[in-house]
Amino acid sequence: MFHWDDGLKLTRADLAIDIRRRQPRAFLSHAHADHMARHEYALCTPETEALYHLRLGRRPTRRLPYRQPVDWGGLRLTTFPAGHCLGSAMLLAEDGRQSLLYTGDFKLAESVTAERAELVCADILIMESTFGRPTDRLPPRDEVIGHLVRLVRQTLADGAVPVVHAYVLGKGQEVTRLLTDQGIPVLQHRDVYAVSRAYETCGVSLGRYARFEGTAEPGWAVVVPPRARTASLSRAVHIAVTGWALDPSAKYRLRVDHALPLSDHADYNELIEAVERVDPRKVYCTHGPESFVDRLCELGFDAAPLGRPAQGRLF
Ligand SMILES: [Zn+2]
Repeated sequence: MFHWDDGLKLTRADLAIDIRRRQPRAFLSHAHADHMARHEYALCTPETEALYHLRLGRRPTRRLPYRQPVDWGGLRLTTFPAGHCLGSAMLLAEDGRQSLLYTGDFKLAESVTAERAELVCADILIMESTFGRPTDRLPPRDEVIGHLVRLVRQTLADGAVPVVHAYVLGKGQEVTRLLTDQGIPVLQHRDVYAVSRAYETCGVSLGRYARFEGTAEPGWAVVVPPRARTASLSRAVHIAVTGWALDPSAKYRLRVDHALPLSDHADYNELIEAVERVDPRKVYCTHGPESFVDRLCELGFDAAPLGRPAQGRLF
């Protein structure tokens, strides 16, 4: 059903999947930069379309809303929520004989700004496995969110400005909504703000937020992209929210005061759970350690790596 041509392609439909080079026809699982290019024609969910147009300009697309099968290029294609960021989708392709599920980036845990992931059964599963080491187990999400809110409140009480470092698309909006839900208004760096406007256009409310112009009134938190400078703020406490914070040394590497493991990727337990629920005959893993493939084989699955492992990529 698929082949590898310096990237994943659905053979019969000649459809490139999440390839970062311009293609005649491509499926975009979500609008992170490492999954997109200025394609001649792209298939994606309506929300990903809005974010794709925002980031790369208006281009021809075909919308694939969740759970609405379309016959395309000799295949039946259906998208399902992937729980990674707004519009993120898994793609189910069926050719009448067998089915293939491509997860893209996904997580199973709940999110306040993205629809929760929905797994369907398939014969072939192609999955991301970023957090594929047994030590890649995230603490309960509620615990991490509670820690974040406590840190932000404490910083405000001390008269300083909490500056949260989060990816421009996805995490930035998630953190904003988590804080505004607690009554903490948010100032956003211009890049985060532009994406947030698109989220709101798609019907996702983020609460009380505004564009950061270099200063912060007392009581406001600031959300900026990873490693952004905020020299204009005299007293700031920097907090990174990223799955990489599983590594205790992350805060030194990221040069922040605190690093919290809030991730938009499935952790090790969720990866295993995903395979069990999809119950495939064959599993192919991308973006993860080879040891995860070995682990799946030990658990009795027929698993193999796909393409080249690309470490250090996590958006
Ligand atoms: Zn992503």
